[in-house]
Amino acid sequence: MEFEAVIGLEVHAQLLTDTKIFCSCKNRFGDSPNTNVCPVCLGMPGSLPVLNRKAVEYAVKAAIALNCKINSSSIFARKHYFYPDLPKAYQITQYELPFAEHGWIEIENGDGTKKRIRIRRIHMEEDAGKTLHGDSFDQNSYVDLNRAGTPLVEIVSEPDISSPEEARLYMQKLRDILVWIGVNDGNLEEGSLRCDANISIRPEGSDKLGTRAEIKNVNSFRFIQKAIEYEIGRQIKLVKGGGEVVQETRLYDSQKNITKTMRTKEEAEDYRYFPEPDLPPLIIDSQWLDSIKESLPTLPDEVRGRFVKDYSLTSYDASVLVRDRKLAEFFEETVSSYSGEPKKAANFIISDFLGILNEEKKELSDASVKAEDIAELLLLVDKGVVSLRVAKEDILPEMVKFGGKPEEIVKKKGLIQISDESELINIVKKALVKNEKAVEQYRSGDEKKKTKAVKFLIGQVMKETRGKANPKILNDLIPKVLDETE
Ligand code: ADP
Ligand code: MG
Ligand code: ZN
Repeated sequence: MEFEAVIGLEVHAQLLTDTKIFCSCKNRFGDSPNTNVCPVCLGMPGSLPVLNRKAVEYAVKAAIALNCKINSSSIFARKHYFYPDLPKAYQITQYELPFAEHGWIEIENGDGTKKRIRIRRIHMEEDAGKTLHGDSFDQNSYVDLNRAGTPLVEIVSEPDISSPEEARLYMQKLRDILVWIGVNDGNLEEGSLRCDANISIRPEGSDKLGTRAEIKNVNSFRFIQKAIEYEIGRQIKLVKGGGEVVQETRLYDSQKNITKTMRTKEEAEDYRYFPEPDLPPLIIDSQWLDSIKESLPTLPDEVRGRFVKDYSLTSYDASVLVRDRKLAEFFEETVSSYSGEPKKAANFIISDFLGILNEEKKELSDASVKAEDIAELLLLVDKGVVSLRVAKEDILPEMVKFGGKPEEIVKKKGLIQISDESELINIVKKALVKNEKAVEQYRSGDEKKKTKAVKFLIGQVMKETRGKANPKILNDLIPKVLDETE
């Protein structure tokens, strides 16, 4: 019998508000432990939560971007469990009536096929603090409550995901959207975006759900895919060997690439949910909803479609540009001050500019290069003032490393392209003397060999002039000089 996998993801995303969800403490990662705390997030008796309006706004933005229906009234609930990082001994969350439901996003598989993954619900809740455990020298455990009360949305998918790759694509798509609309920083390593994966198997073609195992908190895209791959394999082997999958929570060990039992269904806690008496129902009226809708930027999929249509970019190039909203804006600004083909600008930005940023470990935002500078540089190439190679290898790196306008750099470093014919003839003649073999090859009469020889000689002249010779002119000039000197 063949089996197929069924996967549903529960994703927690921290919202990028300045303050926490129920108090005015700072919502910030990396500060000294227990410096951003107050009676509310420390769970002191008698303290009362006050809902952060901005957190609701961000949560609603996320829900709209994920095509959800927004409930005009929803309820906060208490979820009880005991753990040192949860001083109230309950988490304020939403349970029976979440603020958003019935959404979806579309993922694109490697072969270009699109698939819609439905989102069952999104609810708001508070994050817990963090426990830090010592080592063999320090056997204490510590609690840091800076994170307690960080606003979260939990995004619960339907079990529509059918492979480890789809799970990764879904998670990446979620991140891209949340980061694009500015509600989450997309940092899986720091835990601002976390994923629990529910996995079951069933006979291929069956429409019944099998018993699922849940893998907790996997913290990278690669590990999501690998953990699920392992877990599917484990379940199939188990069932083929006559065993049965039990409902349980498992942990992924990324070093060994295995999942291990954390707790079984019998050990599962009863959370004793009940409505939170200290908070009124959350009402999102249509006026507020409309104004939040209006504040949303155009979403990445739509921008990508526009790039393909308006600028004749390939779908792949357009996807690269919309991975980051700043980059997409940068590209459009470049195009608006560049009179050449948008495709050329896209190529230059994707293959050259991003490459150099990456080498220099710089973000687009910390490089001083402006879109108009890229446009100016491309125009210098189009006008033949500098060669493309010099633009890529000399000017652009200089701009990224030290700043400065393309034209200034050209002047300062003497990079103007050599297009003067008599000057080029002299350079070519010298190159011919140095490369007798290629000259012989040219004179052999064989057309193929001829072209090859010319190509080689262009390369030699480019090398000699450190990329400054105009290759277009050389292409005609080299055969001409060769034929004349025969
Ligand atoms: P819980 O409330 O215990 O977390 P839910 O029924 O709300 O459980 O489901 C949580 C997640 O598990 C959802 O993303 C859902 O799609 C997924 N899920 C539920 N049943 C299965 C199953 N049999 N196989 C795989 N995923 C499942
Ligand atoms: Mg769950
Ligand atoms: Zn506080």
